[in-house]
Amino acid sequence: MSTHLDPHKDNALWSQYLDGDLESAERKALEAHLRECEICRGEVQMMRKTVDWLSQLAQSQTHQLQAPKDFEHKVRQRLRTKRKKRRVASQETSALSGQTLTTALIFATLIVLAFTLLLILSNL
Ligand SMILES: [Zn+2]
Repeated sequence: MSTHLDPHKDNALWSQYLDGDLESAERKALEAHLRECEICRGEVQMMRKTVDWLSQLAQSQTHQLQAPKDFEHKVRQRLRTKRKKRRVASQETSALSGQTLTTALIFATLIVLAFTLLLILSNL
């Protein structure tokens, strides 16, 4: 079991980290935490996968649509605000934080599905 004493980093911070929005000192602190903390590592991995997946989808459909860039941005924002709200509402535990991520992923998946369906329909 990990014995690190640092509090878990805020999920909005991980999102910024993945976006490359952080100063190098801040980034290094996060990377240090990642090395120590399995929970945050798992979260970051899932966030990264979701973002990769969305941007791949956006890229593959850019020739057909104008929206993807903005769409991806919106989903990310939605992920951030949704997770922030939850965090404020309850003094979150790592279990809850995992649950929130799952909810966010399901939400993102639904949007992507709806989006794909729209594309298919518009091509008929
Ligand atoms: Zn952590």
